Amino acid sequence: MKESCLECGAALKTGVSMYKGVKLVCLQCPMCKEKIFTEELSLKAIQKMESARLQPSYRRPILRIGSSVGFTIPKDIAQALELEGKIVSLRPNIIKKKIDVTVV
Ligand SMILES: [Zn+2]
Repeated sequence: MKESCLECGAALKTGVSMYKGVKLVCLQCPMCKEKIFTEELSLKAIQKMESARLQPSYRRPILRIGSSVGFTIPKDIAQALELEGKIVSLRPNIIKKKIDVTVV
């Protein structure tokens, strides 16, 4: 579906909008330069802004919790992924000393 500009009716093209140093994809009118965010593009922009707030990696100490061990997840990650009350799936890789954590 081709979207058209509400101001001048020209077919919109993919454009870029900068916000706080983050490039966000939008639709832009080639004639009047009006920028438009559809619902889908708005949600992607919000996710990109939340991701931009996070550090590329975090270090945490392993804590003893009864007979298990664990670590805390930084508040900004927990909020961005809405982790509270969710279940995570852990996939250990012994050779790579790695655990993939997926929110299910
Ligand atoms: Zn236009």
